[in-house]
Amino acid sequence: MSKGTKIPGYMQGKGRNPRGIIGDREIRYKCSLQNTILDVLRGRPGWQEVPGQNNVQQNVQANTKQQGQQSTGQPPSNTGKAGSGTTTTQGTTFGNKASDGDWDFYWCDREWLHQNYDTMFLYEHQKILHFRNHYELTRKNLMVKNLKRLKKQTEREQGKAEGLSFEFFPTTYELPSEYHIFVEEFKKNPGIIWIMKPAARAQGRGIFLFRRLKDITDWKKGEYQPLSDPNRDAPETYVVQRYIENPYLIGGRKFDVRVYVLVVSYNPLKVWLYRSGFARFSNTRFSLDSIEDTYVHLTNVAIQKNAPDYDPDKGCKWSTQQLRKYLSAKHGVDAVRKAYKGIDNIIIKSLQSVQKIIINDKHCFEMYGYDILFDSDLKPWLIEINASPSLTASGKEDYELKFGLLNDLLNVLDLENRLTGKEKRIGGWDLLWEDGPILADDGNMECVPNGNTTTIPNSFLGCHNDRKRQLRELYMAAQSVKKT
Ligand code: ADP
Repeated sequence: MSKGTKIPGYMQGKGRNPRGIIGDREIRYKCSLQNTILDVLRGRPGWQEVPGQNNVQQNVQANTKQQGQQSTGQPPSNTGKAGSGTTTTQGTTFGNKASDGDWDFYWCDREWLHQNYDTMFLYEHQKILHFRNHYELTRKNLMVKNLKRLKKQTEREQGKAEGLSFEFFPTTYELPSEYHIFVEEFKKNPGIIWIMKPAARAQGRGIFLFRRLKDITDWKKGEYQPLSDPNRDAPETYVVQRYIENPYLIGGRKFDVRVYVLVVSYNPLKVWLYRSGFARFSNTRFSLDSIEDTYVHLTNVAIQKNAPDYDPDKGCKWSTQQLRKYLSAKHGVDAVRKAYKGIDNIIIKSLQSVQKIIINDKHCFEMYGYDILFDSDLKPWLIEINASPSLTASGKEDYELKFGLLNDLLNVLDLENRLTGKEKRIGGWDLLWEDGPILADDGNMECVPNGNTTTIPNSFLGCHNDRKRQLRELYMAAQSVKKT
């Protein structure tokens, strides 16, 4: 776009617009990752990659210099800056370079956003991955802190019984800050197993299980005295969490479920849930006899693929459709529906716990990967939430899942302006919440026998994902609505 050109309003394409055009030009994207998301963006009709690696970065710096501002690491006081267009407080127009006009969509990494968000200007039409302080939900210690706070507030305002709806995260303490409270709790429950996890690491790194306080005091000595990492000047934050000793087992193996959730706004809260995902199995039969064996207890693919008997062809995944079918055959549709309602509750409560803290910005969206573990009573537990769930495919099926997931995400964001904005289902995404629960429509009841749509939530995790057919019908319907 040439300097000073007025960008046509966001989503101003008229009528059906399959080629991806904003107003009078094609949609331009940037992408920090080299995996499925890049394939999806490159394959999207009419979307154009912005050439060059660092032009966004350079122009942010240029803008910062012009303003004479320093990044404070804090949110800008004028968070309405985004969308406020191109004018500084001095009234200078950045008529602009790459950061403002040259891209419409940016799949950036979290580090990039941290470094640049506070000094960045976003035009009305721009969409960018991640909210500024996503870590409030995705760092293990902060997630629990926020959940505990909302639980207390709910108990205060609505009574203890309501607080019970928060009983989905295992008892957790932050270390070293809550070490003494943890020790008290530890002594009250002799013999149980605890799991130690670094608060900000991923892929099972640094995790271990223990039963005796001595194990953790030995570890404490090694970790903290002296500090084992010379680059650190304070002990790393960990969480210590009650270990779920009775996981639901299939074929004697433990698994957890990866659930994809899309938040397009925190205020009002608007949340989509993807039908497809997968269960990740451990490679070795579950037992509490060998708590030091990570192949038994940690279901991360990053861990399991190093197991000596790991079979890359068989992998260790099931689709959520396979899982729901299996559980329904074993326990009945109603029991499974109840269990999956628990997952909806986890999603909504966890997002509400940070709703007032996350810096809401209409340019930002987030696709979370929730890790859910069922116990032997089919009760779902929240293990953690990722803001950058892996988009690298582990095989053909995984690639198809992720390709569809990401394409449908772009369909929900609808930069092409092909939809009406009133949809409850777009491809594999179902609208779960928009400032309140969404109820299902007729014709969407595969997992619900004798469905009564006045009470069934619009939530279909693990149900049939006939996304291509649904999209075809959806776009045809939207086109005729738009014509009238
Ligand atoms: P990471 O971010 O390193 O993946 P997680 O919190 O997701 O850390 O834990 C890794 C794995 O450990 C999980 O996928 C799960 O299999 C297991 N796990 C974690 N916490 C618990 C727990 N409280 N009870 C049982 N298993 C757990």
